[in-house]
Amino acid sequence: MNPSVIAAQGGGDSPGWPSSLERYASIVQNAVEGIFQSTPDGRYLLVNPALANMYGYSSPQELMTQVQDISRTIYVDPAVRDEFKRLMALEGEVRGLEYQVRRKDGEIIWVSESSRAVRDAEGEVLYYEGFVENITRRKRAEDELRAAKEAAELASKAKSQFLAVMSHEIRTPMNGVIGMASLLLDSPLTAEQRDFAEIIRQSGDSLLTVINDILDFSKIESGRIDLENEEFILRDCIEGALDLLAPRAAEKKLDLLYEIAGDVPVMVSGDCTRLRQILVNLLGNAVKFTEQGEVVLSIKSEPVASAGDTRVRLLFKVRDSGIGIPQEAMGRLFKSFSQVDASTTRRYGGTGLGLVISKRLAGLMGGDMLVESEVGKGSVFRFSVVAEAVPNMPAPCYADPRTMLAGRRLLIVDDNATNRRILTTLARTHGMNASSLDSGPAALDLLSSGETFDFAILDMQMPDMDGVMLAKEIRRLRLPNVFPLVLLSSLGLRDMITDPEMFAACLTKPTKPAQIVEVLMKLVHRERLAATSSFAAGASALAKPLRPERVLLVEDNRVNQKVALRMLERLGFRADLAVNGVEALKAVEQQSYDIILMDMQMPEMDGLEATRRMRAAIPAGVSRPTIIALTASAMAEDRERCMAAGMDDYLNKPIELDDLAAVIKRALDARAIAA
Ligand code: ADP
Repeated sequence: MNPSVIAAQGGGDSPGWPSSLERYASIVQNAVEGIFQSTPDGRYLLVNPALANMYGYSSPQELMTQVQDISRTIYVDPAVRDEFKRLMALEGEVRGLEYQVRRKDGEIIWVSESSRAVRDAEGEVLYYEGFVENITRRKRAEDELRAAKEAAELASKAKSQFLAVMSHEIRTPMNGVIGMASLLLDSPLTAEQRDFAEIIRQSGDSLLTVINDILDFSKIESGRIDLENEEFILRDCIEGALDLLAPRAAEKKLDLLYEIAGDVPVMVSGDCTRLRQILVNLLGNAVKFTEQGEVVLSIKSEPVASAGDTRVRLLFKVRDSGIGIPQEAMGRLFKSFSQVDASTTRRYGGTGLGLVISKRLAGLMGGDMLVESEVGKGSVFRFSVVAEAVPNMPAPCYADPRTMLAGRRLLIVDDNATNRRILTTLARTHGMNASSLDSGPAALDLLSSGETFDFAILDMQMPDMDGVMLAKEIRRLRLPNVFPLVLLSSLGLRDMITDPEMFAACLTKPTKPAQIVEVLMKLVHRERLAATSSFAAGASALAKPLRPERVLLVEDNRVNQKVALRMLERLGFRADLAVNGVEALKAVEQQSYDIILMDMQMPEMDGLEATRRMRAAIPAGVSRPTIIALTASAMAEDRERCMAAGMDDYLNKPIELDDLAAVIKRALDARAIAA
């Protein structure tokens, strides 16, 4: 036994056992950890073989004789010894102090030390004693982990930058493809050419959807999705989504229906774009996977539990009568890149990302998404989001429809039971007496029997006798001025109305409660609506011959110039063109503009710089132009950069006519208010 490690006296010896002294010594001698006693001036009083071995010495004696100053010989960083002493003075012990040690052969290892100070009667430190553990392997693993994490973070950053660049690179030419195809479709074409142009346009659209899905998905995956928080009219957001799907539903002869409970707040603050995205996706799926029947969107709201909380939970339900989803596939629905089955994929197309993104977005907005489905019967997707209700927002009514419409008698003729229920409920909430029938002949029977109504809503698509046929029959019985009729049709069917006297108004499906009320109120006023006027929304509302506002387009890409100028022309604006920031600055010096559409990336001077200079040169006021960024990047940071540079709004490329109309309308409205 090595006498240098014998440090204890003890009793309790039993016959046949080693003495307690020997046992104490054995612990130190054979311990796996290094054990030591050292003096405050840095010499070892005692070390065990494990410590000597750890530090690369052949024996405890060698370590003790060769190391005369621990801080200089053992510690890689001598300052650690000062820290050690400071802790000892302060606490009397250290636990798990980690530092690097230089072994005899020069190799550097990591150790963890736990020790205490042993003091004399006066409290002077006599020596330190404790344990040392070799933690080099753990440290290396930690280092590797850290390096891997840093590399992953770097890669993720590079990925998102790459996506931003790719998004720009792909969207820019897409702008040309989609924009030009739309313009082509608006020109005189043979049937075959129209077919081709339509395919180009549709292919462009689907390509864009795929790009957007992938971009969104990677943004969500890397936690880089930023939700907006702005006030918006909920109805507009919902109806925007419905309008997008209406043509597709009409093409498939599906009933696209919509009901919104009376207590749903008019205005909320939240992320309108993302909410619409979820709706478009769910409605899009419902229309895609339904061959006949209906797709119904219902919206309700409920307060978010606690009192004084102005937030509401908006509950959305999208129900379809489509192919349904097999039970065993339900679990995969919200998983990335999985579609219900491969043959479905081939038949219907899609990335399989839509639901994943939608559910995650709902989650980010404080809600969730659930699904119920039965094969062959249909599916119900429910989701909720939490939004702040914006108070004191009067309902968008012109006069009080309750008093104007109360007591009026409305006849509803529609073969779709859900739509009859929706329209009847709407009529009742406005105090009307509604009668609903499921077919034209039934309606004619009722009218022939002498029953009278103030007005009727007729569905266009009904078996046997459609809305127009029914209207013709009704006109034999009642004159237009005593019994105005409203036709409810899908887009594309208005051409069927050859006689403007037949219908007082024509509403497109899905019917929007506010629109129906508005139309009926106008009928009460006996204001005759031209059959087409209720269609005039968005782009067509703006499409009047030459408008007085001065518009400047700043864009370097030749194709994009053409697309944007032609679209502006269609909206009634003859715009000037500047091909870069420098030219744009010259143009605004020569004359004042109301609206400037500014591309972001241009040679010589980019859009941001040009905007900053314009803003610096033109003082705030009415003559200050509204600057709208044209951006090919879908990243929120870029939008923020636009706003920071002094831009007022932005428009994503590829430019769509409706979006352009909307952004210009916003600008003109804002200017009208400012003036
Ligand atoms: P995709 O872009 O491929 O449609 P989604 O995530 O939106 O991706 O949908 C995933 C899959 O879920 C679809 O491919 C389809 O098989 C199924 N699915 C989604 N909605 C419906 C629905 N309303 N009816 C039937 N199947 C649906």
